[in-house]
Amino acid sequence: MNEHIRRRESFKIHAGKLSIGGDAPISVQSMTNIPIEDTDRTITQIKQLESLGADMVRLAVRNEKGIEPLKKIIKSVNIPLVADIHFDYRLAVAAIEAGISKVRINPGNIGESWKVEEVIIAAQDRNTPIRIGVNGGSINRKKYSHPTPEALVDSALENIRILEDLNYTNIAVSIKSSDIFATIEANQIMAETRNYPIHIGLTEAGYGLNCTVQSSIVIGHLLLKGIGDTIRVSMTGDPKDEILVGRKILESIGLRYSPIKIISCPTCGRTATDIDLLKIAEKVDAEIHSNFEAVLRSADKTLTIAVMGCEVNGPGEASEADYGLAGGQNGKMLLFAKGERIKTVNITDAVNELVKAVSESI
Ligand code: SF4
Repeated sequence: MNEHIRRRESFKIHAGKLSIGGDAPISVQSMTNIPIEDTDRTITQIKQLESLGADMVRLAVRNEKGIEPLKKIIKSVNIPLVADIHFDYRLAVAAIEAGISKVRINPGNIGESWKVEEVIIAAQDRNTPIRIGVNGGSINRKKYSHPTPEALVDSALENIRILEDLNYTNIAVSIKSSDIFATIEANQIMAETRNYPIHIGLTEAGYGLNCTVQSSIVIGHLLLKGIGDTIRVSMTGDPKDEILVGRKILESIGLRYSPIKIISCPTCGRTATDIDLLKIAEKVDAEIHSNFEAVLRSADKTLTIAVMGCEVNGPGEASEADYGLAGGQNGKMLLFAKGERIKTVNITDAVNELVKAVSESI
C-alpha cells in the first residue's frame, strides 16, 4: 500500500478466493463481451483476462439458457466470476447454486420482496456476496430526473436497505455515471455513509485515449483519497485493454507491485537529431522486461531505468533511476547509474551495454 494513501476502512468480503475490502489489495475487474452461450470463446477470453492480471471477471447472464453454459464456465476457470443479473431472481439463485463467486443485482428491479428473499437464502447458504450496482440508468426515476450524486447515492441506499432489512450485509456497492464529477462525489458520499467495500469506475467512458484519461482521473482521484476496493475501467472494445489500463493505474500510484519502471524524457532541442529516443526507450523497455522481470519478481525488487535525450540534463533529471542512457553527440550515448556517468557508448551498442551493466548488478 502506498504510504501516502490513507485507505478508508471497509468490511472485508470474499468472492471465492478473492478478498475485497478491508486490507485486501485493490483488485482489477473486467467483463466478458461474448454471450456466455458461446461458451468456449468465453472461457478463452476469461483465461486471457486472467493472464493479463484480472482478479475477477463479470459475465452477463441474460436468461435461463445461460445457466448451463455458466456451470461449464465456472468449472473451467480458476478466477472468481461475477454473474450480472437483472430482473429475474431465479437466474440469481441458479447462478449462486452453480457456484458463482459473486452476484451483481439491484434488488429494486428483482420485484416482490419474497423474490429477493429467495436470492438472499441462496446467497447466505454459500456465503456469496452481492454487489449492488447503480449507474445513471438505474436511478429511481420516480424521484429523480437526473443522475445527480444525491440521486445515485439515494438509489444505491434504497437497494442496500432492501438487503439490510433481510439482515444481509455481505455486500459490495458500486455507483457509476458517465460524469466525472457526479461519480467522484457520489462515491465520496457513499464512502461516508456505509462501510461496504466499493467497486469504482466511470461508466460509458468511451474508448481508447478518451476512456483511459477519464477513467484514470476518476479511479485515481478516488484511490488517492482512500476510496475504492475494486476497480474497472469500462472501455468500448476488447476487455483486455480494461485490464491493462486498470493495472497501470494501480501500479502508477503504488497500489500494485511493478518490478520495472521505465522513465524517459519528452526530448527537446537539446536532443541530437541522430537520436530516436522513442525507439531506444521501447527497445530498453522490451529488453529490460525480458531479461530481468522474472528475477526481480522472485526477489521482490524494483528497478528504475531512465532513457534521456541529452547528457547535459539527462542524468541529473533522472538521478533517482538505478541505471540510464542519455543522448550525446556524434552517435554516442552516456551510460549512467544514480546520476553518475559510467561510460560513453555508441548508440548502436547502447541498449546492450545497459543490459550488461544491469545484469552485473543483480
Ligand atoms: S533530458 Fe535533455 S533532452 Fe530530455 S527534456 Fe531534459 S534537457 Fe531536453
